[in-house]
Amino acid sequence: MSIVEFRKVTKAFGPVVVLQEVDLSISVGEVVVLIGPSGSGKSTLLRCINALEEITSGDLIVDGISVRAGGSKVRLIRQEAGMVFQQFNLFPQMTALENVAFGLRHVRGIGGKEANKQANALLAKVGLAERGGHYPSELSGGQQQRVAIARALAIKPKLMLFDEPTSALDPELRHEVLQVMRSLAEEGMTMVVVTHEMAFARQVGTRLIFMEGGKITVDGDPKSLLASPDNPRLQEFLQHVE
Ligand code: ADP
Ligand code: MG
Repeated sequence: MSIVEFRKVTKAFGPVVVLQEVDLSISVGEVVVLIGPSGSGKSTLLRCINALEEITSGDLIVDGISVRAGGSKVRLIRQEAGMVFQQFNLFPQMTALENVAFGLRHVRGIGGKEANKQANALLAKVGLAERGGHYPSELSGGQQQRVAIARALAIKPKLMLFDEPTSALDPELRHEVLQVMRSLAEEGMTMVVVTHEMAFARQVGTRLIFMEGGKITVDGDPKSLLASPDNPRLQEFLQHVE
């Protein structure tokens, strides 16, 4: 069963075409790792999935809802897909607990006490049970990113979108974030992950997609593609990230 389906999706910013007639179908439970040179359209592809960007032509169906449907339907799509960004994007004036409880209260309409209880459980899930009262500025980058993951999970998404979630972190802090992502994958969460972490792609990814110039040029099994990338541009790309 496909949860995301791109049908000849084109996205342009003015005269600049960023996605070119992309066809892509993602099934429930897949862990898709998306790689490609800077500017190839990876972030834009993710942002189209949760309707942060409007597509220019074609159609994109997320859990049975077209992003073209507009209005309240688009809000539904945003609730299907949780997003985690490179720069964490936590609310700086709220504690970790408040950051996570925010979505529970405002998106899912859950009241204060119950929201806090669920938020605490989500913080425990990402290994931060003791950190609920801390402000983002009092947490390490890896901890902040784990709060951001808990916050995204609070809306009970059917799929999770990660845009270079470890790129802003020092190497020694990446592992704790990747570990949380790995657990999510093991629980069966459908995920689309833009990352340069090829070990994660190999060990956790069920599918590897390489984008160039707004097109998907390679799509296959991560282990075999990483072991023997036949595509010369993928080969060259991998030499620079590994
Ligand atoms: P990637 O994530 O692969 O680096 P992006 O999806 O961020 O690529 O960007 C793809 C292309 O789209 C780039 O050339 C970028 O400059 C352009 N682009 C992205 N967002 C916008 C925007 N809001 N307005 C104009 N151009 C944009
Ligand atoms: Mg990007």
